Amino acid sequence: MLARPGLPRFDYVRAGTAEEVVRLLQERGEAVRLFMGGTDLFVRMRDGVIHPQVVVDVKHLPGMREVVYDEQAGLTVGAAVTMNQVARHPDIVAHYPLLAEAANSVASYQLRNRATLGGNLCNASPAADTAPATLALEGRIVLYGPNGEREVPVGEFFLGPGKTARQPDEFVVAVRYPVPPAGAAGRYLKLGRNKVGDLSIVGVAVFGFPDGTAPSGYRFRIGLASVAPVPLRARAAEEVLANEPPGEATFALAAEKAMEEASPIDDVRASAAYRKAMVRALTLRGLQAVWERLA
Ligand SMILES: Cc1cc2nc3c(=O)[nH]c(=O)nc-3n(C[C@H](O)[C@H](O)[C@H](O)COP(=O)(O)OP(=O)(O)OC[C@H]3O[C@@H](n4cnc5c(N)ncnc54)[C@H](O)[C@@H]3O)c2cc1C
Repeated sequence: MLARPGLPRFDYVRAGTAEEVVRLLQERGEAVRLFMGGTDLFVRMRDGVIHPQVVVDVKHLPGMREVVYDEQAGLTVGAAVTMNQVARHPDIVAHYPLLAEAANSVASYQLRNRATLGGNLCNASPAADTAPATLALEGRIVLYGPNGEREVPVGEFFLGPGKTARQPDEFVVAVRYPVPPAGAAGRYLKLGRNKVGDLSIVGVAVFGFPDGTAPSGYRFRIGLASVAPVPLRARAAEEVLANEPPGEATFALAAEKAMEEASPIDDVRASAAYRKAMVRALTLRGLQAVWERLA
Protein backbone atom coordinates (compact mmCIF):
# COMPACT_ATOMS: atom_id res chain seq x y z
CA MET A 1 0.00 0.00 0.00
CA LEU A 2 1.16 3.56 -0.75
CA ALA A 3 0.38 6.49 1.51
CA ARG A 4 1.01 10.16 0.70
CA PRO A 5 0.18 13.23 2.76
CA GLY A 6 -3.27 14.42 1.72
CA LEU A 7 -3.99 11.33 -0.32
CA PRO A 8 -5.91 8.30 0.94
CA ARG A 9 -4.17 4.91 0.87
CA PHE A 10 -4.40 2.93 -2.37
CA ASP A 11 -2.75 0.05 -4.20
CA TYR A 12 -0.72 0.96 -7.30
CA VAL A 13 -0.70 -1.44 -10.26
CA ARG A 14 1.50 -0.81 -13.28
CA ALA A 15 -0.45 -2.61 -16.02
CA GLY A 16 1.60 -4.86 -18.31
CA THR A 17 -1.06 -5.69 -20.89
CA ALA A 18 -4.37 -4.28 -22.10
CA GLU A 19 -6.06 -7.58 -21.14
CA GLU A 20 -4.88 -7.16 -17.56
CA VAL A 21 -6.52 -3.71 -17.42
CA VAL A 22 -9.82 -5.09 -18.72
CA ARG A 23 -9.69 -7.97 -16.22
CA LEU A 24 -9.05 -5.58 -13.32
CA LEU A 25 -11.94 -3.35 -14.44
CA GLN A 26 -14.24 -6.37 -14.66
CA GLU A 27 -13.18 -7.88 -11.34
CA ARG A 28 -12.80 -4.76 -9.19
CA GLY A 29 -15.31 -2.38 -10.86
CA GLU A 30 -15.69 0.95 -9.05
CA ALA A 31 -12.73 0.18 -6.77
CA VAL A 32 -10.40 0.71 -9.74
CA ARG A 33 -9.36 4.04 -11.23
CA LEU A 34 -7.20 4.40 -14.31
CA PHE A 35 -4.19 6.68 -14.14
CA MET A 36 -2.04 8.44 -16.76
CA GLY A 37 -0.74 11.88 -15.74
CA GLY A 38 -2.77 11.97 -12.51
CA THR A 39 -3.37 15.75 -12.73
CA ASP A 40 -7.13 15.26 -12.51
CA LEU A 41 -7.20 11.93 -10.68
CA PHE A 42 -5.02 12.79 -7.69
CA VAL A 43 -6.68 16.18 -7.19
CA ARG A 44 -10.07 14.45 -6.92
CA MET A 45 -8.64 11.79 -4.60
CA ARG A 46 -6.98 14.42 -2.40
CA ASP A 47 -10.24 16.37 -2.22
CA GLY A 48 -12.13 13.22 -1.17
CA VAL A 49 -14.37 13.21 -4.24
CA ILE A 50 -13.34 9.66 -5.18
CA HIS A 51 -11.82 6.86 -3.08
CA PRO A 52 -10.32 4.17 -5.34
CA GLN A 53 -8.69 1.16 -3.71
CA VAL A 54 -6.58 0.44 -6.79
CA VAL A 55 -4.94 2.94 -9.13
CA VAL A 56 -4.01 1.28 -12.43
CA ASP A 57 -1.25 3.00 -14.38
CA VAL A 58 -1.95 2.40 -18.07
CA LYS A 59 0.55 4.79 -19.66
CA HIS A 60 3.34 2.20 -20.09
CA LEU A 61 1.27 -0.12 -22.29
CA PRO A 62 2.49 -0.47 -25.90
CA GLY A 63 1.38 2.41 -28.14
CA MET A 64 0.02 4.59 -25.32
CA ARG A 65 2.82 7.17 -25.70
CA GLU A 66 3.23 6.99 -29.47
CA VAL A 67 2.28 9.46 -32.21
CA VAL A 68 1.83 7.96 -35.69
CA TYR A 69 1.05 10.03 -38.79
CA ASP A 70 0.19 8.60 -42.18
CA GLU A 71 -0.77 10.69 -45.25
CA GLN A 72 -3.69 8.37 -46.00
CA ALA A 73 -4.79 7.15 -42.57
CA GLY A 74 -4.26 10.39 -40.65
CA LEU A 75 -3.01 10.81 -37.11
CA THR A 76 -3.11 8.43 -34.15
CA VAL A 77 -2.12 9.89 -30.80
CA GLY A 78 -1.66 7.39 -27.96
CA ALA A 79 -3.90 8.27 -25.02
CA ALA A 80 -0.91 8.88 -22.71
CA VAL A 81 0.93 11.32 -25.00
CA THR A 82 1.48 14.47 -22.95
CA MET A 83 0.27 17.95 -23.84
CA ASN A 84 3.84 19.18 -24.40
CA GLN A 85 4.48 16.27 -26.78
CA VAL A 86 1.27 17.06 -28.69
CA ALA A 87 2.18 20.76 -28.84
CA ARG A 88 5.67 20.04 -30.22
CA HIS A 89 5.40 16.91 -32.34
CA PRO A 90 6.53 17.87 -35.90
CA ASP A 91 3.70 15.96 -37.64
CA ILE A 92 1.07 17.49 -35.36
CA VAL A 93 2.51 21.00 -35.75
CA ALA A 94 2.70 20.57 -39.54
CA HIS A 95 -0.68 18.92 -40.22
CA TYR A 96 -2.84 19.56 -37.11
CA PRO A 97 -1.66 22.96 -35.77
CA LEU A 98 -5.09 23.54 -34.21
CA LEU A 99 -4.56 20.53 -31.93
CA ALA A 100 -1.03 21.66 -31.08
CA GLU A 101 -2.31 25.15 -30.22
CA ALA A 102 -5.06 23.71 -27.98
CA ALA A 103 -2.64 21.40 -26.14
CA ASN A 104 -0.24 24.30 -25.62
CA SER A 105 -3.01 26.34 -23.95
CA VAL A 106 -3.37 23.86 -21.05
CA ALA A 107 -2.14 25.21 -17.71
CA SER A 108 1.65 25.61 -17.35
CA TYR A 109 4.69 23.98 -18.97
CA GLN A 110 5.24 21.80 -15.88
CA LEU A 111 1.66 20.56 -15.86
CA ARG A 112 1.75 19.89 -19.60
CA ASN A 113 4.66 17.51 -18.99
CA ARG A 114 2.29 15.29 -16.96
CA ALA A 115 -1.18 16.00 -18.37
CA THR A 116 -2.13 13.73 -21.26
CA LEU A 117 -4.43 14.15 -24.25
CA GLY A 118 -6.40 11.01 -23.31
CA GLY A 119 -6.73 12.08 -19.67
CA ASN A 120 -8.08 15.47 -20.74
CA LEU A 121 -10.81 13.85 -22.85
CA CYS A 122 -11.57 10.98 -20.40
CA ASN A 123 -12.02 13.44 -17.55
CA ALA A 124 -14.89 14.87 -19.64
CA SER A 125 -14.78 18.34 -18.12
CA PRO A 126 -16.86 20.84 -20.11
CA ALA A 127 -13.70 23.00 -19.94
CA ALA A 128 -11.28 20.42 -21.44
CA ASP A 129 -9.06 22.48 -23.73
CA THR A 130 -8.36 19.75 -26.28
CA ALA A 131 -12.06 18.92 -26.69
CA PRO A 132 -13.08 21.81 -29.00
CA ALA A 133 -10.14 21.13 -31.34
CA THR A 134 -10.85 17.37 -31.30
CA LEU A 135 -14.51 18.12 -32.14
CA ALA A 136 -13.56 20.51 -34.95
CA LEU A 137 -11.05 17.99 -36.38
CA GLU A 138 -13.67 15.21 -36.08
CA GLY A 139 -11.44 13.02 -33.93
CA ARG A 140 -12.42 9.53 -32.82
CA ILE A 141 -11.81 7.99 -29.41
CA VAL A 142 -10.29 4.49 -29.53
CA LEU A 143 -11.49 2.28 -26.68
CA TYR A 144 -10.16 -1.15 -25.74
CA GLY A 145 -12.48 -3.66 -24.05
CA PRO A 146 -13.30 -7.37 -23.81
CA ASN A 147 -14.04 -7.53 -27.57
CA GLY A 148 -10.93 -5.63 -28.64
CA GLU A 149 -10.93 -2.08 -30.04
CA ARG A 150 -13.85 0.13 -31.01
CA GLU A 151 -13.99 3.76 -32.08
CA VAL A 152 -16.43 6.43 -30.96
CA PRO A 153 -16.70 9.84 -32.70
CA VAL A 154 -15.71 12.44 -30.11
CA GLY A 155 -19.09 14.15 -30.53
CA GLU A 156 -20.74 11.00 -29.11
CA PHE A 157 -18.13 10.44 -26.40
CA PHE A 158 -19.12 13.21 -23.97
CA LEU A 159 -22.39 12.46 -22.19
CA GLY A 160 -22.26 14.98 -19.33
CA PRO A 161 -19.78 16.51 -16.87
CA GLY A 162 -17.40 13.64 -16.01
CA LYS A 163 -19.50 11.16 -18.02
CA THR A 164 -18.44 9.47 -21.26
CA ALA A 165 -19.54 6.66 -23.58
CA ARG A 166 -16.75 4.46 -22.14
CA GLN A 167 -18.15 1.18 -20.79
CA PRO A 168 -17.03 0.19 -17.26
CA ASP A 169 -14.74 -2.55 -18.64
CA GLU A 170 -13.13 -0.40 -21.35
CA PHE A 171 -10.30 2.10 -21.37
CA VAL A 172 -9.10 4.69 -23.87
CA VAL A 173 -5.97 3.74 -25.80
CA ALA A 174 -5.73 6.47 -28.46
CA VAL A 175 -7.36 9.35 -30.29
CA ARG A 176 -7.49 9.24 -34.11
CA TYR A 177 -7.77 12.27 -36.36
CA PRO A 178 -8.62 12.02 -40.08
CA VAL A 179 -6.39 13.70 -42.67
CA PRO A 180 -7.43 17.39 -42.68
CA PRO A 181 -9.08 18.68 -45.88
CA ALA A 182 -6.69 20.43 -48.31
CA GLY A 183 -6.12 24.10 -47.56
CA ALA A 184 -7.55 23.93 -44.03
CA ALA A 185 -6.74 26.47 -41.30
CA GLY A 186 -7.64 26.59 -37.60
CA ARG A 187 -7.39 28.66 -34.41
CA TYR A 188 -8.04 27.90 -30.74
CA LEU A 189 -8.91 30.94 -28.64
CA LYS A 190 -9.03 30.50 -24.88
CA LEU A 191 -10.18 33.06 -22.37
CA GLY A 192 -9.06 32.35 -18.80
CA ARG A 193 -8.88 34.45 -15.65
CA ASN A 194 -5.12 34.69 -16.13
CA LYS A 195 -2.65 33.93 -18.92
CA VAL A 196 -1.50 30.51 -17.64
CA GLY A 197 -2.59 27.80 -15.27
CA ASP A 198 -6.33 28.24 -15.28
CA LEU A 199 -9.29 26.46 -16.81
CA SER A 200 -11.06 28.39 -19.53
CA ILE A 201 -13.98 30.75 -19.03
CA VAL A 202 -14.68 30.07 -22.69
CA GLY A 203 -12.72 28.07 -25.30
CA VAL A 204 -13.46 28.32 -29.03
CA ALA A 205 -11.86 26.25 -31.81
CA VAL A 206 -12.51 27.40 -35.38
CA PHE A 207 -11.51 25.18 -38.30
CA GLY A 208 -12.23 26.11 -41.94
CA PHE A 209 -11.47 24.76 -45.39
CA PRO A 210 -12.49 25.28 -49.05
CA ASP A 211 -15.30 22.94 -50.11
CA GLY A 212 -16.87 23.12 -53.58
CA THR A 213 -19.99 21.26 -52.37
CA ALA A 214 -20.91 24.07 -49.92
CA PRO A 215 -22.96 26.98 -51.39
CA SER A 216 -20.49 29.45 -49.80
CA GLY A 217 -17.49 27.51 -51.17
CA TYR A 218 -16.21 26.90 -47.62
CA ARG A 219 -17.03 24.82 -44.57
CA PHE A 220 -16.24 25.74 -41.01
CA ARG A 221 -16.39 23.62 -37.88
CA ILE A 222 -16.65 25.32 -34.50
CA GLY A 223 -16.00 23.57 -31.16
CA LEU A 224 -16.91 25.24 -27.85
CA ALA A 225 -15.73 24.55 -24.28
CA SER A 226 -16.96 25.77 -20.87
CA VAL A 227 -20.34 26.87 -22.18
CA ALA A 228 -22.55 23.77 -21.75
CA PRO A 229 -22.58 20.48 -19.76
CA VAL A 230 -20.38 18.99 -22.50
CA PRO A 231 -17.98 20.44 -25.09
CA LEU A 232 -20.02 20.87 -28.27
CA ARG A 233 -20.10 21.83 -31.95
CA ALA A 234 -21.88 25.08 -32.86
CA ARG A 235 -23.89 23.47 -35.66
CA ALA A 236 -26.24 26.40 -36.39
CA ALA A 237 -23.25 28.71 -36.81
CA GLU A 238 -21.57 26.15 -39.11
CA GLU A 239 -24.75 26.02 -41.21
CA VAL A 240 -24.71 29.79 -41.73
CA LEU A 241 -21.05 29.65 -42.80
CA ALA A 242 -21.68 26.87 -45.33
CA ASN A 243 -24.54 28.78 -46.96
CA GLU A 244 -23.79 32.52 -46.81
CA PRO A 245 -20.95 34.26 -48.67
CA PRO A 246 -17.88 34.56 -46.42
CA GLY A 247 -17.28 38.05 -45.02
CA GLU A 248 -17.86 40.25 -41.99
CA ALA A 249 -21.69 40.13 -42.06
CA THR A 250 -21.76 36.32 -42.29
CA PHE A 251 -19.11 35.95 -39.59
CA ALA A 252 -21.06 38.27 -37.27
CA LEU A 253 -24.26 36.28 -37.86
CA ALA A 254 -22.45 32.96 -37.26
CA ALA A 255 -20.93 34.32 -34.04
CA GLU A 256 -24.42 35.33 -32.89
CA LYS A 257 -25.69 31.80 -33.65
CA ALA A 258 -22.80 30.25 -31.70
CA MET A 259 -23.72 32.45 -28.74
CA GLU A 260 -27.34 31.26 -28.96
CA GLU A 261 -26.18 27.62 -29.00
CA ALA A 262 -24.19 28.07 -25.78
CA SER A 263 -25.98 27.34 -22.49
CA PRO A 264 -23.40 28.25 -19.83
CA ILE A 265 -23.81 28.51 -16.07
CA ASP A 266 -22.67 31.10 -13.53
CA ASP A 267 -19.66 29.84 -11.56
CA VAL A 268 -16.54 31.07 -9.77
CA ARG A 269 -14.86 31.84 -13.09
CA ALA A 270 -17.57 33.92 -14.79
CA SER A 271 -21.26 34.62 -15.12
CA ALA A 272 -23.37 32.89 -17.77
CA ALA A 273 -24.11 36.24 -19.42
CA TYR A 274 -20.40 37.10 -19.71
CA ARG A 275 -19.62 33.65 -21.10
CA LYS A 276 -22.30 34.04 -23.77
CA ALA A 277 -20.93 37.41 -24.83
CA MET A 278 -17.42 35.92 -24.96
CA VAL A 279 -18.58 33.02 -27.18
CA ARG A 280 -19.77 35.61 -29.68
CA ALA A 281 -16.58 37.67 -29.42
CA LEU A 282 -14.15 34.73 -29.64
CA THR A 283 -16.07 33.00 -32.43
CA LEU A 284 -15.97 36.20 -34.47
CA ARG A 285 -12.27 36.67 -33.76
CA GLY A 286 -11.56 33.01 -34.62
CA LEU A 287 -13.47 33.24 -37.90
CA GLN A 288 -11.61 36.41 -38.88
CA ALA A 289 -8.24 34.80 -38.10
CA VAL A 290 -9.03 31.60 -40.00
CA TRP A 291 -10.47 33.54 -42.94
CA GLU A 292 -7.29 35.61 -43.17
CA ARG A 293 -5.36 32.37 -43.75
CA LEU A 294 -7.95 30.80 -46.07
CA ALA A 295 -8.39 33.83 -48.29
C1 LIG B 1 -3.26 23.17 -11.74
C2 LIG B 1 -4.07 22.54 -12.83
C3 LIG B 1 -4.35 23.28 -13.97
C4 LIG B 1 -5.11 22.72 -15.00
N1 LIG B 1 -5.35 23.47 -16.12
C5 LIG B 1 -6.04 22.92 -17.15
C6 LIG B 1 -6.28 23.70 -18.33
O1 LIG B 1 -5.83 24.83 -18.49
N2 LIG B 1 -7.00 23.10 -19.31
C7 LIG B 1 -7.51 21.82 -19.21
O2 LIG B 1 -8.17 21.37 -20.14
N3 LIG B 1 -7.28 21.08 -18.10
C8 LIG B 1 -6.56 21.59 -17.07
N4 LIG B 1 -6.34 20.85 -15.95
C9 LIG B 1 -6.90 19.49 -15.85
C10 LIG B 1 -5.92 18.35 -16.24
O3 LIG B 1 -4.57 18.72 -16.11
C11 LIG B 1 -6.16 17.85 -17.67
O4 LIG B 1 -7.50 17.46 -17.84
C12 LIG B 1 -5.23 16.69 -18.06
O5 LIG B 1 -5.12 16.60 -19.45
C13 LIG B 1 -5.65 15.33 -17.52
O6 LIG B 1 -4.74 14.35 -17.99
P1 LIG B 1 -4.03 13.32 -17.00
O7 LIG B 1 -3.18 12.46 -17.83
O8 LIG B 1 -3.38 14.02 -15.87
O9 LIG B 1 -5.31 12.51 -16.50
P2 LIG B 1 -5.50 11.61 -15.21
O10 LIG B 1 -5.64 12.49 -14.01
O11 LIG B 1 -4.49 10.52 -15.15
O12 LIG B 1 -6.93 10.97 -15.56
C14 LIG B 1 -8.07 11.80 -15.78
C15 LIG B 1 -9.36 10.95 -15.68
O13 LIG B 1 -9.40 10.00 -16.73
C16 LIG B 1 -9.40 8.66 -16.22
N5 LIG B 1 -8.48 7.91 -17.08
C17 LIG B 1 -7.12 8.00 -17.09
N6 LIG B 1 -6.62 7.24 -18.06
C18 LIG B 1 -7.68 6.67 -18.69
C19 LIG B 1 -7.81 5.79 -19.82
N7 LIG B 1 -6.74 5.37 -20.52
N8 LIG B 1 -9.05 5.41 -20.22
C20 LIG B 1 -10.14 5.87 -19.56
N9 LIG B 1 -10.09 6.68 -18.48
C21 LIG B 1 -8.86 7.09 -18.06
C22 LIG B 1 -8.91 8.77 -14.78
O14 LIG B 1 -9.38 7.72 -13.96
C23 LIG B 1 -9.47 10.13 -14.39
O15 LIG B 1 -10.84 10.03 -14.05
C24 LIG B 1 -5.60 21.39 -14.89
C25 LIG B 1 -5.30 20.63 -13.72
C26 LIG B 1 -4.56 21.21 -12.72
C27 LIG B 1 -4.24 20.37 -11.49
